[in-house]
Amino acid sequence: MTLDKNRLTIAIQKSGRLSDESQTLFKLCGLTLNLTDRKLLAHVANMSIDIMLVRSSDIPGLVMDGICDLGIVGDNTLQEHALQRQLTLEANDFNKICSLKFGGCRLSIALPQEMQYHGVQSLNGLRLATTYPRLLNRFAQDNGIHIDITKLNGSVELAPRVGLADGICDLVSTGTTLEANGLKEVEVIFKSKAALIKGPNRLSEAKQATLDTLLPRIKGVLKARESKYIMLHAPKDKLNEVTSLLPGSETPTVLPLAERDDRVAVHMVSTETIFWETMEQLKALGCNSILVMPIEKMMG
Ligand code: ATP
Repeated sequence: MTLDKNRLTIAIQKSGRLSDESQTLFKLCGLTLNLTDRKLLAHVANMSIDIMLVRSSDIPGLVMDGICDLGIVGDNTLQEHALQRQLTLEANDFNKICSLKFGGCRLSIALPQEMQYHGVQSLNGLRLATTYPRLLNRFAQDNGIHIDITKLNGSVELAPRVGLADGICDLVSTGTTLEANGLKEVEVIFKSKAALIKGPNRLSEAKQATLDTLLPRIKGVLKARESKYIMLHAPKDKLNEVTSLLPGSETPTVLPLAERDDRVAVHMVSTETIFWETMEQLKALGCNSILVMPIEKMMG
Protein backbone atom coordinates (compact mmCIF):
# COMPACT_ATOMS: atom_id res chain seq x y z
CA MET A 1 0.00 0.00 0.00
CA THR A 2 1.29 3.50 -0.84
CA LEU A 3 0.31 6.92 0.48
CA ASP A 4 -2.67 8.54 -1.25
CA LYS A 5 -2.14 12.30 -1.43
CA ASN A 6 -5.80 13.02 -0.72
CA ARG A 7 -5.89 11.02 2.49
CA LEU A 8 -4.75 12.55 5.78
CA THR A 9 -1.76 10.59 7.14
CA ILE A 10 -1.24 10.29 10.88
CA ALA A 11 1.84 8.72 12.44
CA ILE A 12 1.41 6.93 15.76
CA GLN A 13 3.70 4.74 17.85
CA LYS A 14 3.68 1.15 16.58
CA SER A 15 4.15 -0.45 19.98
CA GLY A 16 4.92 1.01 23.36
CA ARG A 17 3.41 3.25 25.96
CA LEU A 18 1.54 5.56 23.58
CA SER A 19 0.29 3.03 21.03
CA ASP A 20 -2.79 1.62 22.82
CA GLU A 21 -4.00 5.05 23.95
CA SER A 22 -3.53 6.50 20.45
CA GLN A 23 -5.52 3.67 18.89
CA THR A 24 -8.23 3.93 21.55
CA LEU A 25 -8.54 7.66 20.90
CA PHE A 26 -9.13 7.05 17.19
CA LYS A 27 -11.65 4.30 17.90
CA LEU A 28 -13.57 6.61 20.26
CA CYS A 29 -13.54 9.19 17.45
CA GLY A 30 -15.44 6.67 15.34
CA LEU A 31 -12.58 5.63 13.06
CA THR A 32 -12.76 2.04 11.85
CA LEU A 33 -9.19 0.81 12.20
CA ASN A 34 -7.80 -2.46 11.03
CA LEU A 35 -4.45 -2.61 12.76
CA THR A 36 -2.63 -5.90 12.91
CA ASP A 37 0.85 -6.46 14.29
CA ARG A 38 2.43 -6.75 10.88
CA LYS A 39 0.78 -3.75 9.23
CA LEU A 40 2.79 -0.52 9.14
CA LEU A 41 0.24 1.48 7.19
CA ALA A 42 -3.48 1.08 7.83
CA HIS A 43 -6.41 2.52 5.88
CA VAL A 44 -9.27 3.89 7.97
CA ALA A 45 -12.30 2.38 6.26
CA ASN A 46 -14.86 5.07 7.07
CA MET A 47 -12.75 8.27 6.82
CA SER A 48 -10.12 9.53 4.40
CA ILE A 49 -7.27 8.79 6.83
CA ASP A 50 -4.21 6.51 6.74
CA ILE A 51 -2.47 5.58 9.97
CA MET A 52 1.29 5.01 9.84
CA LEU A 53 2.72 2.83 12.62
CA VAL A 54 6.32 3.78 13.44
CA ARG A 55 8.80 4.23 16.30
CA SER A 56 7.94 7.14 18.55
CA SER A 57 11.37 8.67 17.97
CA ASP A 58 10.72 8.82 14.19
CA ILE A 59 7.43 10.70 14.46
CA PRO A 60 8.73 14.30 14.91
CA GLY A 61 10.97 13.97 11.84
CA LEU A 62 8.23 12.41 9.68
CA VAL A 63 5.88 15.27 10.56
CA MET A 64 8.45 18.08 10.31
CA ASP A 65 9.57 16.80 6.89
CA GLY A 66 5.97 16.58 5.64
CA ILE A 67 6.01 12.79 5.09
CA CYS A 68 3.05 12.53 7.49
CA ASP A 69 0.49 15.29 7.99
CA LEU A 70 -0.05 14.67 11.69
CA GLY A 71 1.52 12.65 14.49
CA ILE A 72 0.92 11.65 18.07
CA VAL A 73 4.08 11.87 20.14
CA GLY A 74 5.28 12.74 23.66
CA ASP A 75 6.37 16.35 24.24
CA ASN A 76 9.70 14.94 25.44
CA THR A 77 10.46 13.22 22.11
CA LEU A 78 9.22 16.23 20.18
CA GLN A 79 11.29 18.82 22.04
CA GLU A 80 14.42 16.65 22.03
CA HIS A 81 14.11 16.23 18.26
CA ALA A 82 13.42 19.94 17.69
CA LEU A 83 16.50 20.91 19.76
CA GLN A 84 18.63 18.40 17.83
CA ARG A 85 17.46 19.83 14.50
CA GLN A 86 18.09 23.37 15.74
CA LEU A 87 21.68 22.36 16.35
CA THR A 88 22.11 20.82 12.90
CA LEU A 89 20.21 23.71 11.26
CA GLU A 90 17.58 21.34 9.84
CA ALA A 91 13.96 22.45 9.39
CA ASN A 92 12.18 21.97 12.72
CA ASP A 93 8.77 23.55 12.18
CA PHE A 94 5.65 21.98 13.64
CA ASN A 95 2.34 23.06 15.17
CA LYS A 96 1.08 21.51 18.35
CA ILE A 97 -2.64 21.12 17.69
CA CYS A 98 -3.58 19.93 21.16
CA SER A 99 -2.32 18.11 24.21
CA LEU A 100 -3.96 14.69 24.47
CA LYS A 101 -3.98 14.19 28.24
CA PHE A 102 -2.39 10.75 28.19
CA GLY A 103 1.22 9.52 28.31
CA GLY A 104 1.93 11.85 31.22
CA CYS A 105 5.47 11.62 32.59
CA ARG A 106 8.37 13.79 33.71
CA LEU A 107 12.00 13.88 32.64
CA SER A 108 13.93 13.83 35.89
CA ILE A 109 17.47 13.70 37.15
CA ALA A 110 18.02 10.86 39.62
CA LEU A 111 21.05 10.06 41.74
CA PRO A 112 22.02 7.03 43.85
CA GLN A 113 20.10 7.08 47.17
CA GLU A 114 23.30 7.49 49.18
CA MET A 115 24.59 10.49 47.22
CA GLN A 116 24.30 13.89 48.94
CA TYR A 117 22.10 16.44 47.15
CA HIS A 118 21.87 20.13 48.10
CA GLY A 119 20.25 21.68 45.03
CA VAL A 120 21.14 22.13 41.37
CA GLN A 121 24.77 23.11 42.11
CA SER A 122 25.35 19.55 43.41
CA LEU A 123 24.97 18.41 39.78
CA ASN A 124 27.87 20.56 38.55
CA GLY A 125 30.58 18.35 37.02
CA LEU A 126 28.57 15.11 37.34
CA ARG A 127 28.36 12.51 34.60
CA LEU A 128 24.72 11.73 33.76
CA ALA A 129 23.38 9.11 31.36
CA THR A 130 20.26 9.94 29.34
CA THR A 131 18.28 9.34 26.16
CA TYR A 132 17.54 13.08 26.09
CA PRO A 133 20.93 14.83 25.83
CA ARG A 134 19.55 18.05 24.26
CA LEU A 135 16.90 18.60 26.95
CA LEU A 136 19.45 17.84 29.67
CA ASN A 137 21.99 20.17 28.10
CA ARG A 138 19.40 22.96 27.93
CA PHE A 139 18.67 22.44 31.64
CA ALA A 140 22.41 22.64 32.44
CA GLN A 141 22.80 25.84 30.41
CA ASP A 142 19.70 27.45 31.97
CA ASN A 143 21.15 26.71 35.42
CA GLY A 144 24.73 27.73 34.64
CA ILE A 145 26.20 24.32 35.41
CA HIS A 146 28.26 21.80 33.47
CA ILE A 147 27.00 18.23 33.11
CA ASP A 148 29.01 15.54 31.37
CA ILE A 149 26.32 13.82 29.27
CA THR A 150 26.47 10.18 28.15
CA LYS A 151 23.80 9.25 25.59
CA LEU A 152 22.10 5.87 26.08
CA ASN A 153 19.09 4.58 24.13
CA GLY A 154 17.73 2.25 26.81
CA SER A 155 18.21 0.75 30.30
CA VAL A 156 19.45 4.16 31.43
CA GLU A 157 18.80 3.39 35.09
CA LEU A 158 21.56 0.77 35.07
CA ALA A 159 24.28 3.32 34.21
CA PRO A 160 25.26 4.31 37.78
CA ARG A 161 25.38 0.66 38.92
CA VAL A 162 27.80 -0.35 36.17
CA GLY A 163 30.00 2.72 36.62
CA LEU A 164 29.00 4.38 33.36
CA ALA A 165 27.67 7.52 35.05
CA ASP A 166 27.13 9.18 38.45
CA GLY A 167 23.39 9.48 37.87
CA ILE A 168 20.73 9.53 35.20
CA CYS A 169 18.18 11.77 33.53
CA ASP A 170 15.21 9.65 32.48
CA LEU A 171 11.43 9.53 32.11
CA VAL A 172 9.52 8.84 35.31
CA SER A 173 5.83 8.32 35.91
CA THR A 174 5.44 6.58 39.27
CA GLY A 175 9.05 6.44 40.43
CA THR A 176 9.01 2.71 41.20
CA THR A 177 11.66 1.86 38.57
CA LEU A 178 14.01 4.46 40.07
CA GLU A 179 13.42 3.11 43.57
CA ALA A 180 13.98 -0.48 42.42
CA ASN A 181 17.36 0.61 41.04
CA GLY A 182 18.46 2.42 44.21
CA LEU A 183 17.95 5.90 42.73
CA LYS A 184 16.24 9.04 44.09
CA GLU A 185 14.61 11.72 41.95
CA VAL A 186 16.26 15.09 42.63
CA GLU A 187 15.17 17.45 39.81
CA VAL A 188 12.26 17.43 37.36
CA ILE A 189 13.59 19.10 34.22
CA PHE A 190 10.65 18.65 31.81
CA LYS A 191 6.98 17.63 32.08
CA SER A 192 5.47 15.76 29.15
CA LYS A 193 2.17 14.49 27.76
CA ALA A 194 1.28 13.04 24.40
CA ALA A 195 0.41 15.70 21.82
CA LEU A 196 -1.20 15.84 18.40
CA ILE A 197 1.19 17.67 16.08
CA LYS A 198 0.97 18.92 12.52
CA GLY A 199 3.72 19.66 10.04
CA PRO A 200 4.47 23.06 8.55
CA ASN A 201 2.86 22.45 5.14
CA ARG A 202 -0.58 23.76 4.26
CA LEU A 203 -3.00 20.85 3.88
CA SER A 204 -4.87 20.27 0.63
CA GLU A 205 -8.57 21.14 0.73
CA ALA A 206 -9.55 17.47 0.99
CA LYS A 207 -7.15 16.79 3.89
CA GLN A 208 -8.17 19.99 5.70
CA ALA A 209 -11.83 18.94 5.44
CA THR A 210 -10.94 15.58 7.03
CA LEU A 211 -9.03 17.31 9.83
CA ASP A 212 -11.97 19.68 10.40
CA THR A 213 -14.17 16.64 11.03
CA LEU A 214 -11.61 14.75 13.12
CA LEU A 215 -10.48 17.55 15.43
CA PRO A 216 -13.85 18.33 17.09
CA ARG A 217 -14.23 14.58 17.68
CA ILE A 218 -10.83 14.37 19.38
CA LYS A 219 -11.65 17.40 21.53
CA GLY A 220 -15.05 15.86 22.33
CA VAL A 221 -13.45 12.60 23.48
CA LEU A 222 -10.93 14.46 25.67
CA LYS A 223 -13.62 16.66 27.22
CA ALA A 224 -15.87 13.66 27.85
CA ARG A 225 -13.04 11.88 29.68
CA GLU A 226 -12.75 14.74 32.15
CA SER A 227 -16.47 15.19 32.62
CA LYS A 228 -19.08 13.29 34.59
CA TYR A 229 -22.85 13.18 34.29
CA ILE A 230 -24.42 13.65 37.69
CA MET A 231 -27.97 12.85 38.75
CA LEU A 232 -29.31 13.43 42.22
CA HIS A 233 -32.39 14.34 44.22
CA ALA A 234 -32.01 17.57 46.19
CA PRO A 235 -34.06 19.70 48.59
CA LYS A 236 -35.53 22.56 46.50
CA ASP A 237 -34.31 25.23 48.94
CA LYS A 238 -30.69 23.99 48.80
CA LEU A 239 -30.29 24.10 44.98
CA ASN A 240 -27.71 26.91 44.96
CA GLU A 241 -25.54 25.22 47.59
CA VAL A 242 -25.78 21.92 45.73
CA THR A 243 -24.69 23.34 42.35
CA SER A 244 -21.89 25.39 43.93
CA LEU A 245 -20.32 22.10 45.09
CA LEU A 246 -20.20 20.84 41.48
CA PRO A 247 -17.79 22.75 39.21
CA GLY A 248 -18.96 23.34 35.65
CA SER A 249 -22.61 22.80 36.53
CA GLU A 250 -23.83 26.38 36.01
CA THR A 251 -26.96 25.39 34.09
CA PRO A 252 -28.30 22.17 35.59
CA THR A 253 -31.52 20.57 34.44
CA VAL A 254 -34.01 20.72 37.33
CA LEU A 255 -36.99 18.37 37.12
CA PRO A 256 -40.01 17.91 39.41
CA LEU A 257 -40.34 14.70 41.37
CA ALA A 258 -43.65 12.83 41.44
CA GLU A 259 -45.61 13.60 44.62
CA ARG A 260 -42.82 15.73 46.17
CA ASP A 261 -43.10 19.53 46.28
CA ASP A 262 -40.05 20.00 48.50
CA ARG A 263 -37.53 18.01 46.40
CA VAL A 264 -36.34 18.06 42.77
CA ALA A 265 -34.21 15.89 40.48
CA VAL A 266 -31.02 17.61 39.29
CA HIS A 267 -29.08 16.47 36.20
CA MET A 268 -25.81 18.11 35.20
CA VAL A 269 -22.46 17.68 33.52
CA SER A 270 -19.57 18.45 35.83
CA THR A 271 -16.20 19.16 34.25
CA GLU A 272 -14.10 17.97 37.17
CA THR A 273 -13.52 14.78 39.09
CA ILE A 274 -16.15 14.16 41.74
CA PHE A 275 -14.50 12.92 44.93
CA TRP A 276 -16.19 10.91 47.67
CA GLU A 277 -15.86 14.00 49.91
CA THR A 278 -18.05 16.02 47.52
CA MET A 279 -20.67 13.27 47.51
CA GLU A 280 -20.61 13.25 51.32
CA GLN A 281 -21.11 17.03 51.36
CA LEU A 282 -24.05 16.66 48.95
CA LYS A 283 -25.56 14.06 51.24
CA ALA A 284 -25.07 16.35 54.24
CA LEU A 285 -27.09 19.02 52.36
CA GLY A 286 -29.96 16.52 52.15
CA CYS A 287 -29.35 15.08 48.67
CA ASN A 288 -29.97 11.40 47.94
CA SER A 289 -29.94 8.99 44.96
CA ILE A 290 -26.61 10.55 43.92
CA LEU A 291 -25.29 8.98 40.70
CA VAL A 292 -21.96 9.92 39.04
CA MET A 293 -21.60 8.45 35.56
CA PRO A 294 -18.90 8.51 32.89
CA ILE A 295 -19.64 10.22 29.56
CA GLU A 296 -18.54 8.55 26.35
CA LYS A 297 -18.77 11.41 23.83
CA MET A 298 -19.50 15.15 23.94
CA MET A 299 -20.15 17.76 21.28
CA GLY A 300 -21.19 21.40 21.47
P1 ATP B 1 10.18 4.20 20.48
O1 ATP B 1 10.89 2.94 20.83
O2 ATP B 1 8.78 3.94 19.94
O3 ATP B 1 10.94 5.18 19.63
P2 ATP B 1 10.27 4.82 23.36
O4 ATP B 1 11.40 3.89 23.52
O5 ATP B 1 10.38 6.20 23.98
O6 ATP B 1 9.91 5.06 21.82
P3 ATP B 1 8.14 4.02 25.15
O7 ATP B 1 9.00 3.57 26.29
O8 ATP B 1 6.95 3.23 24.79
O9 ATP B 1 8.94 4.12 23.79
O10 ATP B 1 7.72 5.53 25.48
C1 ATP B 1 6.92 6.28 24.60
C2 ATP B 1 6.53 7.58 25.27
O11 ATP B 1 5.66 7.31 26.37
C3 ATP B 1 7.65 8.38 25.91
O12 ATP B 1 8.41 9.10 24.95
C4 ATP B 1 6.88 9.30 26.83
O13 ATP B 1 6.35 10.41 26.14
C5 ATP B 1 5.70 8.41 27.29
N1 ATP B 1 5.83 7.90 28.68
C6 ATP B 1 4.89 7.98 29.64
N2 ATP B 1 5.30 7.46 30.79
C7 ATP B 1 6.53 7.01 30.61
C8 ATP B 1 7.49 6.35 31.45
N3 ATP B 1 7.25 6.09 32.71
N4 ATP B 1 8.64 6.00 30.90
C9 ATP B 1 8.88 6.23 29.60
N5 ATP B 1 8.02 6.88 28.78
C10 ATP B 1 6.86 7.27 29.26
